Amino acid sequence: MADKSFFIDTTKCTACRGCQIACKQWNKNPGTKTVQTGSHQNPPDLSFFTFKLVRFSEIETGGDPKWYFFPDQCRHCMEPPCMSTAESLGSKAIARNEATGAVVFNPKIKVKPADLKSIRESCPYDIPRWDERMGVMAKCTMCSDRVKEGMPPACVKACPTGTMNFGDRKDMLERANKRLEEVKKVYKDAMLANPEDVRAIYLLVDDPKKYHKFAVAENTFGITRKMALKRLFQPLSNLRHVIG
Ligand code: SF4
Ligand code: SF4
Repeated sequence: MADKSFFIDTTKCTACRGCQIACKQWNKNPGTKTVQTGSHQNPPDLSFFTFKLVRFSEIETGGDPKWYFFPDQCRHCMEPPCMSTAESLGSKAIARNEATGAVVFNPKIKVKPADLKSIRESCPYDIPRWDERMGVMAKCTMCSDRVKEGMPPACVKACPTGTMNFGDRKDMLERANKRLEEVKKVYKDAMLANPEDVRAIYLLVDDPKKYHKFAVAENTFGITRKMALKRLFQPLSNLRHVIG
């Protein structure tokens, strides 16, 4: 099986939330109790039971409201900072699926609250979530169980507009770059979000911050400043674990 990737073309997204519901159903995640907060975005954030969330921003531009839809999920980073942090803390809770490249949280391995905090802070996209009662983490799995059987992830299968795409990484990168060229003819600021660093490649047509605070990584190396400092000052005992 080849290295896989998503291509998420936000220019086609209608915020129908079919992907969000399909993700819940396939992963047998319960619905999240929520209230109307005045936004189409619901529930308000990702959680231990919500791996996919269609973010919704309404921004005023010269008196006219403009809508930005962002189907948020784990980016399955090429060099995942969450996994490096977990390893540096001596935890095997995060692993990579060598066949697809998916970054997977092991639901059976418990993590301490302080370790969860470090892992979450190391993620440039603010993805990892934790269940306090069980002490384990959860996020998008890239539907590894479906992909292994030759099926696309549930969110891709459910998307009616062609926003969600999935396939061999080389094909997805080609498709993303081709679509970027087309879209740039109309939207000069169009861009792909960190395409070389992630396996969930987003096409955006405006300032990423208008979509979501964590739409793109703050630096392009896939490692946060906090994490770099942490690595620099980590105790020798942790370093020994990394080395041996
Ligand atoms: S997006 Fe965050 S949780 Fe997902 S692989 Fe990258 S660092 Fe890990
Ligand atoms: S299913 Fe497709 S169109 Fe609907 S919200 Fe998700 S990505 Fe957007």
